[in-house]
Amino acid sequence: MSEPDNTDPSLQTPVPSTLMGAAVSFATSMARFAASGFKTVDEPLHQLRMSHCQPCGYRNDSQCSLCRCFIAKKAWLPHEDCPIGRWPC
Ligand code: SF4
Repeated sequence: MSEPDNTDPSLQTPVPSTLMGAAVSFATSMARFAASGFKTVDEPLHQLRMSHCQPCGYRNDSQCSLCRCFIAKKAWLPHEDCPIGRWPC
């Protein structure tokens, strides 16, 4: 029997972002949003992303407890992603 691969990121417990990290991430994201010309994803993709967040154990009401983002807002941003890769795109 082989040992588990502890270097595989999918097997590691996600670590919530610190408040400072979340603040920096938010500022960076808003800069990228502005640089994109304030582009958003279309409604079907937004709904698809939200459908992955809805049952997620890391969702805390309207906020993701890992990245601390407000999910419904973040899901509109094309350059954003789920911190553990649960969004399809
Ligand atoms: S962004 Fe990812 S980790 Fe956060 S609530 Fe949504 S599916 Fe869960």
